[in-house]
Amino acid sequence: MIVDYHMHLRGPADGREGPIDHTVGAVERFAEAAAARGVDEIGFTEHMYYFRQLGDLVEHPYQAARVGHDLDAYCDAVVDGKRRGLPVKLGLELEWLPGREAELAEVLAAYPWDYLLGSVHVVAGEAVDLAPGVWDRLSVEEVWSRYFAAVGELAASGLADVLAHLDLVKIFGRRPAPDTVAALHEETAAAVSRAGVAVEVSTAGLRKPVGELYPASDLLVRCREGGAGATLASDAHAAHDVGRDFPAGLDLLRAAGYETITVFDGRRARQEPLG
Ligand SMILES: [Zn+2]
Ligand SMILES: [Zn+2]
Repeated sequence: MIVDYHMHLRGPADGREGPIDHTVGAVERFAEAAAARGVDEIGFTEHMYYFRQLGDLVEHPYQAARVGHDLDAYCDAVVDGKRRGLPVKLGLELEWLPGREAELAEVLAAYPWDYLLGSVHVVAGEAVDLAPGVWDRLSVEEVWSRYFAAVGELAASGLADVLAHLDLVKIFGRRPAPDTVAALHEETAAAVSRAGVAVEVSTAGLRKPVGELYPASDLLVRCREGGAGATLASDAHAAHDVGRDFPAGLDLLRAAGYETITVFDGRRARQEPLG
């Protein structure tokens, strides 16, 4: 089985990112694109910060500028797609918001999620994945250690079923010394295994300055050794990116020793043969 468990519903556009399109028509277009790439099941994971129901929790200015969409309409579009027989799952991409876990869990409890993705995009109040973001305020070592500390806290929170782009912090190719990286990977894999969450293999990093899959193979191997399940993901922001570069993602999973993929229904995980 092949899944793509991370994508954002957008309308068509030339070159730039298309407009938000939380409609069953968009769900159908993404499902068609998945079928054409040989992907068996897809999951939609819109950023939580687009939704007015979660607007009180949004802190970063880039994210606050995007609040205003309706979480009910988004969930209804995906549920409608399921009713039409499409192999689609309902998810959301959560931010790590220390101290606000209970508020977030309360809003989320009203919706029929198949799984929740957990992401760290912001460290010390600044973005890790935007330039200059946090990078002109803190040293590379500091960004990396704070980033992975946040990932560990997110894992332990129990809010997320899957951790997205586990080493997003490498996005611009800036990294500390190899022994520091190895120590952070070891701590992170231990946190993942303690929390019992799955990790995502994402091909999105291939389209970013770093030009690599997320996560690094040594980190993925440590997660597998610690018993973590894995998903596969494109982080598509356009239908034509669904399932993109999946042969590379499958190679990374197999090289790390994975023979199964984690599939979710109603926040319950099970394993299916990979491929
Ligand atoms: Zn993300
Ligand atoms: Zn995403």
